[in-house]
Amino acid sequence: MSAVSHPILVDPAARALAGAQLELSYAPELFPRLQDLAVTPVGEVVVCAAFAKDPHGQVVVELRLQAQLNMMCQTCLQTLTQNLQQQTVVAPVFNDAAAEKVNRDYDAVLLDENGELNLDTVIEDELILALPQVPKHVDGPCAERLNQALQTDADLVADDKPNPFAVLEKLQAEQTKTGKSK
Ligand SMILES: [Zn+2]
Repeated sequence: MSAVSHPILVDPAARALAGAQLELSYAPELFPRLQDLAVTPVGEVVVCAAFAKDPHGQVVVELRLQAQLNMMCQTCLQTLTQNLQQQTVVAPVFNDAAAEKVNRDYDAVLLDENGELNLDTVIEDELILALPQVPKHVDGPCAERLNQALQTDADLVADDKPNPFAVLEKLQAEQTKTGKSK
């Protein structure tokens, strides 16, 4: 697998006919755009790509991505290691017009003039799409501080809010009374 040369170009239509499945692993340095976003994979990114045709004859590639990424926590600005597991289906097309007709469940991806798909670009795009919008620690000191702040807010709100159901019950009881007296 280490002998694979990049970028990996495949003909999805031919692969779909053969029902091909590829197991790939990418070294972090193969994803420069991720690193520009201050996101660095820890170890290799593992990818499984399965080629098929859907019931409408559209060639599709099912991608399963597994990665561990170092990002910056937006609460404490320290490093956060995030496990990412992403499953997605892409539909290779020749142009934008064809992309618009693709089933909404798929991500349309453009083929080059030879009908080939650059898997490296597609995989990096999908990783970027799968990134959390606001990466944050879910445990550890910074998350605890945040939870405490939220808890205090919740207590304050709970104290001075009247129970809306109590008012409703009273109204209903009064309506039943007037209804009976008619
Ligand atoms: Zn943090």
